[in-house]
Amino acid sequence: MADQTHIEWCDSTFNPWIGCTKVSPACDHCYAAVSTPARTCNIAWGAGQPRRRTSPANWKLPLRWNARPFLECPACHWRGEAKGAHWGGTGCPRCSGQPQPARRRVFCASLADVFDNEVDPQWRAALFALIQATPNLDWLLLTKRIGNAHQMIGESLIRIAGGTDLLPSWPWPNVWLGATIATQAEADRDIPKLLAVPAAVRFLSMEPLLGSVDMSGALLEAVPRSEWIGDPPATLQRREAPGTPLRRRLPGIDWVIVGGESGPNARPMHPDWARSLRDQCAAARVPFLFKQWGEWAPFERPRGFDWKHPGGDFATWDGEKFRPFYPNLHELVSMRRIGKKAAGRMLDGQEHSEFPA
Ligand code: SF4
Repeated sequence: MADQTHIEWCDSTFNPWIGCTKVSPACDHCYAAVSTPARTCNIAWGAGQPRRRTSPANWKLPLRWNARPFLECPACHWRGEAKGAHWGGTGCPRCSGQPQPARRRVFCASLADVFDNEVDPQWRAALFALIQATPNLDWLLLTKRIGNAHQMIGESLIRIAGGTDLLPSWPWPNVWLGATIATQAEADRDIPKLLAVPAAVRFLSMEPLLGSVDMSGALLEAVPRSEWIGDPPATLQRREAPGTPLRRRLPGIDWVIVGGESGPNARPMHPDWARSLRDQCAAARVPFLFKQWGEWAPFERPRGFDWKHPGGDFATWDGEKFRPFYPNLHELVSMRRIGKKAAGRMLDGQEHSEFPA
């Protein structure tokens, strides 16, 4: 729907349809349900509510993107079209670097879910035909219904073949398949499902991150025993030991995105949850992108802070959950609501903006 986007991990967004049903704790404060397109088009969310296919003109956008050269500056990581308002054709519009050809990353269905079982299968087949017709774009299909992906991709390919023998082979090099994981329960349930689907790139979007997540159990379960390093306890111990390098990367996961929640009812993300995932990815040499803190940021106690009358929005971790206020606030991890922009995206003083090779 958008040539450009503020989402850090993609260049453009495309919505083939709008509408969805909440299926995960990560959906609790779904921004899409209250977004401008949903409100202006009067699209209701929920089971049994019709999804709205977007206009034919919108469906032509990816074809146009596919035809336009796209660049990235190796010096400052500016990304954009080779011909555009900010492009003079002589160098990077931001620095003195020389941009190089790159592939545009398209986040598909920010206002819906590609693998929603209430969507007309013909629409999904049309989407896959569009993806097939745009090989210069990398399509990021991020879903909260990863359990549907294998079957629905297969059905779509059969529809594209249209009863002929020309069944497209799979996986396609321009499809990155991602699953949203917000909690340990979702990791244990959905990472094996993601790993079971062939894909050029598989990624996890852990946003909003709602608890601590140890990925090793789910990943071990999904890996054939012949691929384990030593026996399972040794592998697990090695993963847990800080700073100990792994001899192999996390099997089948190519990228991990982590972020806190934004919006008026956002829940705080404990800094240790994000740190742990950063460290798990570093140990396994998996690219890690810390997208944002969200509404809440770690609270650094200023000198002379009045604990009896703190004012503002505070959340204190009591060991099990965040509370609005806790008497021993100064001894525990606290977060303060300061807004997404002010909270930023630095984790322990560092920006993490890694992408798959
Ligand atoms: S899957 Fe996405 S679009 Fe659908 S309800 Fe959940 S957050 Fe909203």
